Amino acid sequence: MLKVTDLRFAYSRRSAPVLRGVSFELADGEVGIVLGRNGSGKTTLFSNILGINSPDSGSIEFDGADLTKMPRRERAKLIAYVPQDIRFGALSVFDSVLMGRVARFGLTAGEEDREQTRRVLDEVGLAALAERTVTELSGGERQKVAIARALAQEPRLLVLDEPTGNLDIENERLILEEARKLARSRNIGVLSSLHDLNRALGFGDRFFFIKEGVVKYDCRREDVTADMINDVFGGRVRMVEFEGEKIILDEKKKI
Ligand code: ADP
Repeated sequence: MLKVTDLRFAYSRRSAPVLRGVSFELADGEVGIVLGRNGSGKTTLFSNILGINSPDSGSIEFDGADLTKMPRRERAKLIAYVPQDIRFGALSVFDSVLMGRVARFGLTAGEEDREQTRRVLDEVGLAALAERTVTELSGGERQKVAIARALAQEPRLLVLDEPTGNLDIENERLILEEARKLARSRNIGVLSSLHDLNRALGFGDRFFFIKEGVVKYDCRREDVTADMINDVFGGRVRMVEFEGEKIILDEKKKI
């Protein structure tokens, strides 16, 4: 379980803090979505969890171990990251996914690493494309490679920053379903930011709304209200239920 407590972070002494006491927990097997306006600190929060930045104070624990004090390599075995914009070199799909195991294999990959890579490619439905060069693939396929590479790390937590950035609606849906399925089948936590609120509502189990540097609302999907969304995003949306699903209607298209 990921436990973030009273996390504070500023980019410099002179700039205003971005995170002013962020606290939340995410259980294994759960999909948690971080929501907030542009610039509210979602990527900054992820960079602290990943150890790219160090918090000024507060703690980030995984199963009781302090992530901020963990050596990089150890942390890389626990947490995998799929950034917003992934750039692949001219490697094959197989090698790109194998690279995800660098923190595990050291200098050269062994048979076990190749075996795990094959297993992950199978799992996400990329086995047939294993020998293709990643740069030849479609956006949706590349996104799958990025997720497969993260999974090859055998992480306990998967962090996704806007995982559907450049995808069309169908691929977006497929990627999110894939991530959700993996969270359940591997019992790993998935922490993601997501721009589209309706997508987010369909995908997440738990929602963390960031406003003014703190998690202002922390709730399960069924408890998300239009008031929370309007408070955090400053919009005027309505929420309706259709066939048991919550749908956000935004007449002004502000969100
Ligand atoms: P979000 O992901 O929610 O859009 P970010 O975490 O990217 O928000 O940004 C939060 C705030 O921190 C913004 O005001 C942004 O300008 C600032 N910021 C982000 N990265 C840096 C950086 N490397 N140096 C200084 N300020 C930054």
